[in-house]
Amino acid sequence: MKALVKIKKGFGNVELIDVPEPQCKQDEIKIKVKAVGICGTDLHIYEGSFPYFNIPVILGHEFSGEIVEIGKIVKNEKNLCIGNKVTVLPSAAIICGSCEYCKSGNFIFCPERKGMGHGTNGAMTEYVCVREELVYKLSDNISFEEGSLTEPLSCCIQAVDDFVNISPTDSCLVSGPGTIGLLISSLLKMRNSTVVLTGISKDKKRLEIGKSIGIDIAINIGEKRIEKELIKELRLERFDICFECSGAASSLTSCINNLKKMGSLIQVGLLGSDSLVNLGNVVLHQLTLYGTLGFSWQSWGKSLEILKSGKLRADLLITHKYKLDEWEEAFRKSREDDSVKVIIEPA
Ligand SMILES: [Zn+2]
Ligand SMILES: [Zn+2]
Repeated sequence: MKALVKIKKGFGNVELIDVPEPQCKQDEIKIKVKAVGICGTDLHIYEGSFPYFNIPVILGHEFSGEIVEIGKIVKNEKNLCIGNKVTVLPSAAIICGSCEYCKSGNFIFCPERKGMGHGTNGAMTEYVCVREELVYKLSDNISFEEGSLTEPLSCCIQAVDDFVNISPTDSCLVSGPGTIGLLISSLLKMRNSTVVLTGISKDKKRLEIGKSIGIDIAINIGEKRIEKELIKELRLERFDICFECSGAASSLTSCINNLKKMGSLIQVGLLGSDSLVNLGNVVLHQLTLYGTLGFSWQSWGKSLEILKSGKLRADLLITHKYKLDEWEEAFRKSREDDSVKVIIEPA
């Protein structure tokens, strides 16, 4: 079968090659991959700037597919059947299951953890075999493409649910309108809070998508000042809560400076190791800063429920689809400013 493989370290070194089709072990489930999203992590692995990969390794961790085989000793407590539309919790592919983090559902910090697409083989290929514990049915109303968003949505649910109690009276700033910023904006609108989404000039299309998912105002900070727009459009001066989703130090600084006194900031974007940010206002305005990484098992469950409810327009975020043979074009497109989520359809 064909697979998109990071062959060796360094920039590029990604090739579509023939690999043996995996054999379904007795305790595994075999899935025909139908849709796999390109994530920032895949781009970082391509560029050689993601430090945690075993090579050679098949890329891709945001995916959905169809069950084609069920191993003989699978317990099957979820009543999975051949032909079921499913998604896979990819980041817990290898975990110890017994450390304090695994026990609390926060497997992301398990010292033995290896995730699909970097630690172990991922889904930019035709078939994958995984432990039954990682396989979850998608409801009929969800397309394969939407199902592949379960993983990034889980990260967003953790960011929105696990740190600050968000109420309809809260004003929220979401800085960075990529997949994560747009999903967080959708979740905040489901809680009826006021949502301001900011991006720079190259994000025009993404800010437009933000409007279509119902945010209150989108601000291109390349052209307009947040403070002025806030007062003009919403009669607000500052925000109760900020979600920094771009990972840029300038965005984090702007979030800190646009928070109300005693406000909270949730840092979602991965900041570069050389980011310098003035934290003076953290003390002067008595701010609370949180960091969020990946998601817990609990957030994954909520993500499936939200997709099933049909309340979240995940489809609006899927801007481009490609076949596996067209992976180079797909990777190129996912770096361009007119795309949000780019999907590869191997089958
Ligand atoms: Zn991802
Ligand atoms: Zn563990």
